[in-house]
Amino acid sequence: MTPELDSPNLLDTIPALIWNGSPDGGASSLNAAWTRFTGRPPAELLGFGWQRLLHPDDIYCVQEGCARAHGGGADRRMHVRILDASGRYQRFLVSISANGADYDAPGGFAAAAIRFIDSRADKPTDCMGERDLRFPWGHVPVMVWSTQADGYLDFVNDHWVRFTGMPLERAQGWGWQEAVHPDDRERSMRVWRQLLESGLEGSCECRLGNHERGYRWCMSIVKPRRDATGRIVRWYGAILDIEDRKRAEDALRLSEAYLTDAQRLSHTGSFALNPHTGALYWSPEMYRLYEYEPGTKVDLRAVFARTHPDDLDEATRAFARIGAGDLEVDTTHRLMMPDGRVKDIRLLAHPVDYQAGKSEYAGAVIDISEAKQAERRLQQAHDDLAHATRIATLGELTASIAHEVSQPLAAIAANGAAGLRWLARGEPDVGEAWLAVERMIKDAQRATDVVRQLRALARKDGTARKFDDVNRIIQETVLLAQPQLSKNRVVLKLELCAQLPRVEVHAVQLQQVLINLMTNGSQSMDGVDGARVLTVTSSASADGGVRVVVRDVGTGFAAHDHEKLFSPFFTTKQDGMGMGLSICKTIIESHGGTIMACNNAGPGAQVTVELPGACRPERYASASSRKADDANSRV
Ligand code: ADP
Repeated sequence: MTPELDSPNLLDTIPALIWNGSPDGGASSLNAAWTRFTGRPPAELLGFGWQRLLHPDDIYCVQEGCARAHGGGADRRMHVRILDASGRYQRFLVSISANGADYDAPGGFAAAAIRFIDSRADKPTDCMGERDLRFPWGHVPVMVWSTQADGYLDFVNDHWVRFTGMPLERAQGWGWQEAVHPDDRERSMRVWRQLLESGLEGSCECRLGNHERGYRWCMSIVKPRRDATGRIVRWYGAILDIEDRKRAEDALRLSEAYLTDAQRLSHTGSFALNPHTGALYWSPEMYRLYEYEPGTKVDLRAVFARTHPDDLDEATRAFARIGAGDLEVDTTHRLMMPDGRVKDIRLLAHPVDYQAGKSEYAGAVIDISEAKQAERRLQQAHDDLAHATRIATLGELTASIAHEVSQPLAAIAANGAAGLRWLARGEPDVGEAWLAVERMIKDAQRATDVVRQLRALARKDGTARKFDDVNRIIQETVLLAQPQLSKNRVVLKLELCAQLPRVEVHAVQLQQVLINLMTNGSQSMDGVDGARVLTVTSSASADGGVRVVVRDVGTGFAAHDHEKLFSPFFTTKQDGMGMGLSICKTIIESHGGTIMACNNAGPGAQVTVELPGACRPERYASASSRKADDANSRV
């Protein structure tokens, strides 16, 4: 400052704020008017303290004025708001000029501020727009634009010009609309008008560019600037190129749509579960499967609420395994909807992040109700068919069995008559009569056994499997098949192992298998002139199970039929159904066993049935094996 200006008397009496300082804006001296106006002591105002009292929106403008002042040129004038002692901003006209060579701070600035009190005080300051537009917007990597209060565009940065290929002269006012894709013009104008009317900030997505170079999706963010009275003085906008994001979003949307469609088609829902926090995410199909409103907040309670009460243990176990960090969870259980409808589902899950303690699970739930129902229907049809063939077999058996039963009945009658004769003697022979009654009881027992077996076989037997003695089952079957075998002149040979393990088996089903195999063997020997020997062998297999072989000396299988033997409806017999071996296979496989057919080295064929065992020595059936010994010796 000049010595004159430094004079406290003169400077302090002037009704204007006067100060000077270095190009960085730090004040080296200020007059007393500063303290009078702001209520702050000089120490607080010196340096950069004075700048703290400027309106935040005006600081940049003033700082730039200070910085440029020392470069010479015209004085800079601007409107600046400064906080007074009562805490209100007052408008000043500020003039900043270069410090003269004779000033204390050569190369710095000198400034004076006079209270701005005229009718234009409320008008927007040019400084604001001017200041902002002078900012090096060209270097900013986004498009920037600005309009006057009424929406008249008067500024776009270089980036905008490069992007749209439209110079400011064409864009200004409302010309910029040409840079908007024709399909988006009306919508973007509507949004812009709404913002102008409402005075709110907002955003709009539209395509920007031109015909030649093409258009890209952009997002324009708009914000009004208001003066101290709240009136809008300008609008400012920034535009971001969101083409890549938009494409990624579209691709994601498309793949999500495909996924949702695929999930709906395949009745498969997917989920993500954080077992530590319990956070659960469901795909739309999951909501459909569990029948919750889309968007409902779901957690494990919601899952269990839809789980069939009888399967709650299974479902709880599955989620406990997830909680324990199991690598692969695969379970089937049922859901029950509030109206009582039941759905069969298969739930699969595996961890997607193998870091200990952090893993989340991704999973799928497949609605297998239809498959399960089809399976049940198939099983039912098979059971019905098996029953029908059993009845058909019974038809053939019944005639010979009736004959077989009539034999013991005739024997009972004969023994009864003999018994009476022994008793009617002058001296009754009680011993002989006793023996006759004993024979009667034995015959009656034999007839009862045959009838009981016949009834068991005819029943649609639902009895469960139990550990049973296969030798006993073979003997009971022989009881049924014997009459027919005798009629066909078949000699039955039983070679039953005395030390046979008990295996878990459905006795009536195994009887049905054995009858089928014996009948087939017997029929294959129809044309055999010599001894028609049918051998049934039982033995223990290596895994603690039981092997039963039915061997004949008949025609054997034709080599080309071998593949088809166990297929349903394959028959070489004129009146055959072709279901016998197929049913045998189903029954044996449902027991976890196997059935195989092959030709003998000599004449005939043999069918081998293997039933799995439990490898538990205590299940060996010593009692029935003793019976087996009897049977072996009998045949
Ligand atoms: P079906 O007895 O009604 O023909 P099966 O399924 O029991 O039906 O048998 C299918 C076919 O397998 C028979 O038609 C026959 O050709 C052949 N087959 C079955 N068992 C024997 C056997 N022990 N010896 C020769 N061929 C057999």
